Amino acid sequence: MTPDAAARALFAEMSDSPAAGEWSAPGRVNLIGEHTDYNDGFVLPFAIDHRTHAVAGTNGSADIRVESTFADARVVVHLDDLDRMFPTTGQLAVPEWAAYPLGVAWALRRATDAPQIGVDIAIASDVPVGAGLSSSAAIEGAVASALNDVWGLGLDSVALARIGRRAENEAVGAPTGIMDQMASMLGRADAAIFLDCRSLHTEVIDLGFAAAGLEVVVIDTGTAHAHATGGYRDRRDACERGAAALGVAALRDLSAPDLARAERAMDATTFRRVRHVVTENQRVLDTVQTLRAQGPAAIGPLLDASHASMRDDFEISTPELDTAVAAARAAGAIGARMTGGGFGGAAIALTPHDRVDEVALAAASTFDEAGYAPPHVFTVTPSGGSRRDA
Ligand code: ADP
Ligand code: MG
Repeated sequence: MTPDAAARALFAEMSDSPAAGEWSAPGRVNLIGEHTDYNDGFVLPFAIDHRTHAVAGTNGSADIRVESTFADARVVVHLDDLDRMFPTTGQLAVPEWAAYPLGVAWALRRATDAPQIGVDIAIASDVPVGAGLSSSAAIEGAVASALNDVWGLGLDSVALARIGRRAENEAVGAPTGIMDQMASMLGRADAAIFLDCRSLHTEVIDLGFAAAGLEVVVIDTGTAHAHATGGYRDRRDACERGAAALGVAALRDLSAPDLARAERAMDATTFRRVRHVVTENQRVLDTVQTLRAQGPAAIGPLLDASHASMRDDFEISTPELDTAVAAARAAGAIGARMTGGGFGGAAIALTPHDRVDEVALAAASTFDEAGYAPPHVFTVTPSGGSRRDA
């Protein structure tokens, strides 16, 4: 069953009333710019052709009721109790998955004069969960778009992206930046979203992959990542320490000539974290420039350099991700890098159309030789952002 049909079927099961509409929001791939978002820097993600669907309608009560094919359980919360469930200090009394949709409802009520109207929301998705393709932003975007319309709030895409981020930061407790939500809200077919994470200024950048005979192959290693804990927070802390040591508001305020000074101002590990962010920001700018001037076939070296920086300086890659990247490059990809927050998840490989099968085979066979579980390999197409479908 397609995810839109699954969401409709789920809604019909849970609700006596007809649906008010159907909404969907995509996952995303970050072409380049990793761990730059929370440093006020630049990112270049694109929305993908995998989406989370939400079918929603009023239910005549003052309860929010959410159900997802992901969890097979209904969670019901009175609108007035959302506040008590999500204090900013965050103890959740609901299953973690439900904190995403309920967190969006909570954040919308915090930010607006939302009416006291209960809503049923049925959710289904074909965005791989936990693969670094941001199923979290997809569910936030679909639910935010649905509630925005059902409650008649009239918020724009950027406001809804902020709502999704607030839900993820404060209700779920994952200290992520705003890139994923902006990509999911604003994505366009055959284009990436160049985002300045400080000003939230965006520009649509044509990718032209199809015209250049290129495809983006995703190699999902199937290994877990955990944004809410451990390494991610540690890297954020290192970035904050680095910025403080140099007296800047954020690492965005540094560029390559500042690195010599940075090296003297902090310990070696913190310096390498800083160097990743500073050079990665520059690589995003260079990628935009290269796409405009030369087209997508010329960005391979920037993707490769990004991976090396994450592996060696930021130390967020894994043996599986390094294997995937090396296999893809050896099989004819013109550039490859891990994508997403790291510590597992997926790699992307920009690959000539006639090499896609070789890349998939190479990934499978090198994983087999290394004794890793088989990777999940598929292509993604830059696609449109969050929208009302019916
Ligand atoms: P990623 O965003 O990379 O896929 P995250 O850990 O940020 O990984 O978010 C994944 C979590 O989001 C899931 O564990 C689940 O709690 C929630 N989630 C994502 N998609 C759905 C869905 N369709 N239904 C319910 N919960 C979902
Ligand atoms: Mg996520």
